Amino acid sequence: MGSQGKTLIRGATIVSMDPAVGDLKGDILIVGDRIAEIAPSISADDAEVIDATDMIASPGFVDTHRHTWQTQLKGVAIDWSLFDYTCLMRSMYSVCYNAEDAYVGNYVGALDAINAGITSLVDHSHLQITPDHSDGLVNGLKDAGIRGVMCYGVYRNPKYNPGDKLNQAMIVSDVSGPLEDFHRDNAARVRAQHFASDDGLLRFGIASSEYATFTDVKPMVDEIKWARTLQPAMISIHAHFGVNEDFRIVSGLHDHGLLGEDLLFVHGAHVTDRDLQLLKDHGGWLSTTPETELQMGMGYPVLERVVESGSTPSLGIDIASNFAGDMFAQMRVMLQTMRFRHYETANAGIPIASRYAARNMLEFATLGGARQMGIDGITGSLTPGKKADIILTRMDSVNMSPVTDPVAALVFYADANDIDSVWIDGVARKRGGKLTGISWPAVRKRLNASRDHILDQFARISEADIRGAWAPIWGLETPAIEPAI
Ligand SMILES: [Zn+2]
Repeated sequence: MGSQGKTLIRGATIVSMDPAVGDLKGDILIVGDRIAEIAPSISADDAEVIDATDMIASPGFVDTHRHTWQTQLKGVAIDWSLFDYTCLMRSMYSVCYNAEDAYVGNYVGALDAINAGITSLVDHSHLQITPDHSDGLVNGLKDAGIRGVMCYGVYRNPKYNPGDKLNQAMIVSDVSGPLEDFHRDNAARVRAQHFASDDGLLRFGIASSEYATFTDVKPMVDEIKWARTLQPAMISIHAHFGVNEDFRIVSGLHDHGLLGEDLLFVHGAHVTDRDLQLLKDHGGWLSTTPETELQMGMGYPVLERVVESGSTPSLGIDIASNFAGDMFAQMRVMLQTMRFRHYETANAGIPIASRYAARNMLEFATLGGARQMGIDGITGSLTPGKKADIILTRMDSVNMSPVTDPVAALVFYADANDIDSVWIDGVARKRGGKLTGISWPAVRKRLNASRDHILDQFARISEADIRGAWAPIWGLETPAIEPAI
């Protein structure tokens, strides 16, 4: 930063995502936490000058759904189905985390997001096992310096520990029932202790208990009413992704007059057209996480139907335990999947024009998410007066060169290593391709130690017992499927 906290990004290829600013070759002046000016040429003698002649400047990405705590588990979920995820992640790995692991997962997960140019994040945080876990989860995000909402998950977490002898009742009893007193008290404490102000980079939210969403609206009604007494920025709800679709959570909440702009439904491939209309008329958003939805059989991603309903879509990453936590892959997977669908159905098998383009995906991954989070007035585009949430992406790498169309380059060729710089709220969190203010070798050592601790604990729980307990709940006779080869 130069004097008075001024930084001048000079000569950038600017993709603003703001129609009034457009795309241009030019300069961006950051003063304090804001974008002060964007113009073909700006003079600011007292500013720190950054030569961006070989870089694209664009708004930071907005990830509207991530279970950030699972960062240590990269690679474990790559071949999982949703059934595997339920058994292994929710009933086994989560049990293995101590408060240090909770901190490390959220801290490094947020760094991983920032490194990939994500400046705003909705953390669907269902690892609220003890007050110490909760403190670790909040502090991890705060220490990383990301903008976002930590949605405190009111899940009934397993009560057993690694090494305990398990029985069916222990596992089943942990997945249903009313809101626990522990969560009422602990969530209120977290709200008061960590989020006394709503003006911080990180805001307080709630993540509802998903199992209740499949069976009965009553627990959800109670949960939403209770959650709103804590004035959360958002309430994140896994919904309509294919399990027991007899129960309609969107219309059920509407029947109780509870829909509103603070509700963020996630996945939602199986929403009805009426559900979409209710959301549009009464408030409520849908976050699409294309890669997990395709991998885990959650249905055809709903994003396109959200657009057609006249609402705003967004993209989320969901779980970094089964793929890279960047937005590049999500934009590409979503776009190509939609094109496949158009050719198969809308165009009656004839491969003619697709209605969606790379720029649409970039908009959904920036402004779309910001709109859903209620922060499009301060971020989501490069607009003078908005907060300086800016990324610079290098155009000179082997994989990016040559850049003819910067939007094409961002959506189809870039990866996290191409991101040179990231500012969040005017603070440089990545410069020259490296995260600022941290010693990565030391952070990595702590991350690996946490991973080792979790895997040691994991080995003490019987996977067969867990799968056996869950199989009848899912109506499965065979809890495991043999590999194809
Ligand atoms: Zn999720």
